[in-house]
Amino acid sequence: MEQGGCSVFSAQAALEMIFEFDESGRIFYANAEAEKKLEYTGGLCGRSVGEVFPGEFKSEENTFTTQYAFDEKPRQLVAYRGNFTCFPVEAKILKSGCKPERYVCMAYDMLEKEYLKREVAQVRQEAELALKVKSEFVANVTHELRTPVNGVLGNVKELLCEDVDSRIMKSLRMIERCCVDMNKIIDNILDFSKLEAGKFTLEPRRFHVREMLDHVKTTHSAKITEKGLEFFMTVSPNVPEYVIGDELRIKQILNNLLSNALKFTAVGKVKLEVLKTAQMSGRTELFFIVIDSGIGIDDADKDKLFQSFSQVDASISRRYGGTGLGLNISKQLVELMGGNIGVESQRGKGSTFSFSIWVDSCEEEKSTGQQMDTVRPAGYMAGEQAAAGQEERADGDAVKQYGTQENKEALRKVLSKLILCVEMENWEKAEMFMDTIRQLAEGAPHEVGRVILRLKMAVQKENYEKITAGFEELKSFLQAEEVHA
Ligand code: ADP
Repeated sequence: MEQGGCSVFSAQAALEMIFEFDESGRIFYANAEAEKKLEYTGGLCGRSVGEVFPGEFKSEENTFTTQYAFDEKPRQLVAYRGNFTCFPVEAKILKSGCKPERYVCMAYDMLEKEYLKREVAQVRQEAELALKVKSEFVANVTHELRTPVNGVLGNVKELLCEDVDSRIMKSLRMIERCCVDMNKIIDNILDFSKLEAGKFTLEPRRFHVREMLDHVKTTHSAKITEKGLEFFMTVSPNVPEYVIGDELRIKQILNNLLSNALKFTAVGKVKLEVLKTAQMSGRTELFFIVIDSGIGIDDADKDKLFQSFSQVDASISRRYGGTGLGLNISKQLVELMGGNIGVESQRGKGSTFSFSIWVDSCEEEKSTGQQMDTVRPAGYMAGEQAAAGQEERADGDAVKQYGTQENKEALRKVLSKLILCVEMENWEKAEMFMDTIRQLAEGAPHEVGRVILRLKMAVQKENYEKITAGFEELKSFLQAEEVHA
């Protein structure tokens, strides 16, 4: 239903005043807001635009005169109500440009707009202040809590060194564990409140990547043994030896993801993989993947995971404990390091958490960085994949060099073997071939690297559809490069 050139429904629902008038200046349509604000007894229709804007429009017999420009620029006018009181408006009056001419006026009550702006600014200021007070309170309380907890912990440690009977020893060990857990919670709350308040700063230093990873692995080895799980760690050969980054915080993210993976996995395996995904202007992008074969997460719950204090459901917190802060802190830390974090999971099958971060390259890495991107160094693999990967690792320099005829031939062969394994659901072998593909494609353009990464994750998740899509994508890349050559 159209009237006077505007859709009646949208104009009626508009929060601004809208009215239309004709060549004679007679108003023939006004929306609800215009009627409400201008308060003409008997309504606006039939009135003259000169009554509403006497400073801008002079009514004459069957027409009007004005200096108004009728362009897109909003102007400040004074609008008069039916009772001759007035208020400032920001108005735009446009011409239809057809015969007979029609005009549409859209106007905001500036007093109201100004008032709302001030209200919003005040509410924002109050919210910021409340957040600051809350963050400071949380930071103070957690600091205060740390002192008595450490007091208890110190005394328990002293008692543990003494000759006490086994029953008391057991209780002391329990108290010690509780204190350590309590300290972890305090640390999490402190980090969270600092991050929330924007007071968190990273402390980048040069560190040895593989030593850091070994330390992370050692941290969890007792739990891995206790639960009888398999653990694999794979570090791509092109991951630099040294980088400059906040080692402590990178460890914190990895520890959080790994302790979750171990917490939510009763049988099967947990894997940690590290790749270098990009290098530019002295910076390196590292990509970490943590895979488990645990309880998994429903699609509907995935969005909630990275929110603060969020656990999938109450039964999980009762059964597994935790504060629901770890992933939120990890997300914020990852973002501070210029990266992203995400999860792919299937209920009952397991989860794959992955994140990327940017670190600075060290001087010695910078000078060889370009080379490292194009030349495939000798492999660094841990766990069973090292032995399995050896079997299919291609030999010869030409095979190693991405883009050569030999390299493409080898890639094609391994790809078809991969697909065969996928068809036969031999996932262990498929992963092994996937590693070979990744090594053969080292030094490939960025977009090929991304496809391989997606394909790899699809293989790890045993997702047949995504594997086929990745396979086709990779094949067409190889073909396109061939045609190009
Ligand atoms: P919490 O300290 O409670 O573990 P997190 O933020 O680390 O807090 O995790 C939030 C929730 O995300 C967990 O309570 C759990 O419901 C879910 N979750 C995290 N990692 C996994 C995983 N690997 N498998 C299944 N669920 C997970």
